[in-house]
Amino acid sequence: MRYSNFFLPTVKEVPSDAEIASHQLMIRAGMMRKLTSGIYSYLPLGLKVIRKVEQIVREEMNRAGAQEVFLPAVQPAELWQESGRWVFYGKELLRFKDRHNRDYCLGPTHEEVITDLVRNEIKTYRQLPRNLYQIQTKFRDEIRPRFGVMRCREFGMKDAYSFDADNDGADLSYRKMFDAYHRIFSRCGLMFRAVEADTGSIGGSSSHEFMVMAESGEDGVVYCDGCAYAANLEKAEIPKPEDTAAPAGDVLPLEEVHTPEVRTIEEVCAFLGVTPQDVVKTLIFNADGAAVAVLVRGDEEVNEIKVKNFLGCDELELAGDDMILAATGSPRGFAGAVGIKTRIVADYSIMGMRNMVMGANREDYHVKNVNLDRDFRVGAFADLRVVREGDVCPRCGGSLTFARGIEVGHVFKLGTKYSKALKAVYLDRNGKEQIMIMGCYGIGTTRTVAAAIEQYHDEDGIVWPMPIAPFQVIITPVNINEEALAKTAEDLYQALTERGVDVLFDDRDERAGVKFKDADLIGIPYRVTIGPKKLAEGKIEVKNRKTGDVSSVDLAGAADYLASAVKADLDRAM
Ligand code: ATP
Ligand code: MG
Repeated sequence: MRYSNFFLPTVKEVPSDAEIASHQLMIRAGMMRKLTSGIYSYLPLGLKVIRKVEQIVREEMNRAGAQEVFLPAVQPAELWQESGRWVFYGKELLRFKDRHNRDYCLGPTHEEVITDLVRNEIKTYRQLPRNLYQIQTKFRDEIRPRFGVMRCREFGMKDAYSFDADNDGADLSYRKMFDAYHRIFSRCGLMFRAVEADTGSIGGSSSHEFMVMAESGEDGVVYCDGCAYAANLEKAEIPKPEDTAAPAGDVLPLEEVHTPEVRTIEEVCAFLGVTPQDVVKTLIFNADGAAVAVLVRGDEEVNEIKVKNFLGCDELELAGDDMILAATGSPRGFAGAVGIKTRIVADYSIMGMRNMVMGANREDYHVKNVNLDRDFRVGAFADLRVVREGDVCPRCGGSLTFARGIEVGHVFKLGTKYSKALKAVYLDRNGKEQIMIMGCYGIGTTRTVAAAIEQYHDEDGIVWPMPIAPFQVIITPVNINEEALAKTAEDLYQALTERGVDVLFDDRDERAGVKFKDADLIGIPYRVTIGPKKLAEGKIEVKNRKTGDVSSVDLAGAADYLASAVKADLDRAM
């Protein structure tokens, strides 16, 4: 590609709404432009990178036995009503009507559509297993689009769906995708981890997220320094404590204390001269319309996802004022376990506490010396809190470490959630009807591009890993008007193109400094400089974008030298 012909509008200014490096650099490097909130147009440079990611994804999906399809973006409401998600998906689902007043949505995902397709076409066990995938644009009306294409409303996704006759088959399909994802992100040249993820109501350990490790990541990642355990922070487990001996100290008489203006844990501690470890937080949740009190030690945080999974409810939110008043007899801020009229579930951290402090279910009052069994009973103890750095690993007893990650992929064993609702059934060997077992597997292709930039950039711009670099080599003659330089550049451009190298030839009539700045900004792995002094010695200069190393290379062997350097970089990522 000749730069003079290439639609590559680079800019110096950092866009005012761009908070993270990848968002800034994708605009500055002329990869994309914002159309409206969370919706972007991709320019040629951006599209080239996306296509390279897609190509790797496609090759690995095909290699794993999945077959490519292409499903509609517009989906009829009926299918979503059948699965129940027309109601449950919420506001991220963009709904609209056609001219006949029929309801439709823009696909945020395709479980319904693919299950409909498969139920109509697959009838017997002989047609199973199947894994179908597509690379397609998704729309999700995200509440807060931000960080460019990292969390936008319209984005590219590869989504695959497996259908199996039985559980063993479904596990094998899952494993194949899990392995394919490892190859995909390795081949993209990324540093990543597969972490255990929340399975919601499905349960089991059959959901993994693939996280690109980056400080700017929205997800907390927890991993063990002693074993292979790694999990999303929201999922990371806390083992049930060994049966603890009775807590030390005497059980003191229950005491109600007037605590005006005292609300937060810090205020309670200061007022009563206790520590957060002595206090119990009581949160009232609305679980599918019923009030539930959740107890956790004062220095810990409740993990709502764990609460939701434990209760097995469809919807969970903090209770409103009316529900709190009905449950506790007092306004918000004074809930406690003593005398409360709701089901109580408690985090393990409550076990072994003695003479606790908690709200008195009475405005401006707390109670001291609360003790389990004597003063209140707990319906169940469970793991309901957020993990903390240094917590014990649930697998090996080691110590947990925190990091940040960007979720670029997700593999999920769905079980029969959709096949049951949409009646995707087949006849088994005995002619008996059975429900298919499904899995779904997503990769955010556009998010992967942004994640790569988060991982690989410096103060001058992007530093593409070779496998997804839009161009592998950029040729910059320092002065295009000098015939010898222009001719050498042109010849090298042809020779590299013949060798299958992706080259950008900066044939613009610009100062060398301008060209160098652009080359650094768009992050091409190798920059060739052709200048008069070196050329007089029969040499050119090759600069490595990542290391900054500059080598003087004989012009005669330059094309072969570069082609093998590119190949070596590609092989390293395989
Ligand atoms: P998140 O927790 O980030 O919202 P999700 O759990 O909703 O992600 P999935 O439904 O599993 O995501 O979608 C599969 C993949 O699609 C994700 O792993 C991610 O890479 C990508 N993705 C999801 N939402 C967005 C978005 N708003 N913008 C860009 N990519 C997205
Ligand atoms: Mg989401």
